Amino acid sequence: MKLLWLQSGGCGGCTQSLLCAEPRPLFDELRDAGIEFVWHPALSLESGDAALQILEDCAEGRLPFDVLCIEGAMLRGPNGSGKFHLMAGSGRPMTEWVERLARHARWVFAIGSCTAYGGFSASTPGNPLEACGLQFDTDEPGGLLGKGFQSSGGLPVVNIAGCPVHPGWVVDTLEKLAFEGLAASDLDAYGRPLLYADQLVHHGCSRNEFYEFKASAEKQSDLGCLMENLGCKGTQAHADCNVRTWNGSGSCLRGGFACIACTEPGFEAPGHPFQETPKLAGIPIGLPTDMPKAWFVALAALSKSATPKRVRENAVADHPVIRPAVKKAGK
Ligand code: SF4
Ligand code: SF4
Repeated sequence: MKLLWLQSGGCGGCTQSLLCAEPRPLFDELRDAGIEFVWHPALSLESGDAALQILEDCAEGRLPFDVLCIEGAMLRGPNGSGKFHLMAGSGRPMTEWVERLARHARWVFAIGSCTAYGGFSASTPGNPLEACGLQFDTDEPGGLLGKGFQSSGGLPVVNIAGCPVHPGWVVDTLEKLAFEGLAASDLDAYGRPLLYADQLVHHGCSRNEFYEFKASAEKQSDLGCLMENLGCKGTQAHADCNVRTWNGSGSCLRGGFACIACTEPGFEAPGHPFQETPKLAGIPIGLPTDMPKAWFVALAALSKSATPKRVRENAVADHPVIRPAVKKAGK
């Protein structure tokens, strides 16, 4: 399976993340799965005219490829011309290259949230770059390729959202496509592969016991749940970050940072500081998506009244100050 990768209005962080694929080195893993790059701007040897020739051959259908991977938002400005971002050496807008190449790709992958939805590039006030995603403009279907776009493989854009993406989300999606095929039923409503988006970041979080008792951290270094005071959106963010950890063992939560829901459209402009929880009458506004508010409030009050001393005191400490009790054998 051949990949063609282009970078547009992003930071390149998704490629950096991809290089951290594990447990096997990225190129060994892809090679053994029969997946190879036709060209990647940071990983291929060809540059200048040689690179442009590859792209031209792909865009004209002379050089077959399977998956078009785009990393970065589509910059349509000024006035829809796309001239804010010309492909170096070609004098032509990146948006035009993407549209031409998408016609010849069997599948189109948006790598990262800025490619999927517009992301940070689109969140500048007034969006002077006219940035958008490949098939979404934040959460509105459309984007550069349009709501009805389907690649010749019969799928809309596959949105591997995240800022950055987890390398495993990219590698597993490519390997699923290579070995089993991908169907529309493998994607959620935002085109995200269910292999990582059918879970919430909350699942597997090491702070779950604190969440259950609503024992909340009050400052960044505390062990407690970060939802009530420190902006955590793990109960609303679709991703498996605490089950499929990053770099062997990490996640934002395990590093002491709240989940900012970077796989969701519009995450980059929440309307409040990332590490603060907006509240109405003392109740967090961003409650779990699948629980009625009244239930949550009732359960939270009940949980707080039953919080064990160990959980309550450890929640506001940077290391456990009360250990779990040790039971005697047979008791
Ligand atoms: S999704 Fe985030 S990490 Fe990836 S290229 Fe865009 S801004 Fe960078
Ligand atoms: S810190 Fe966030 S992800 Fe972890 S348990 Fe609390 S709400 Fe869930």
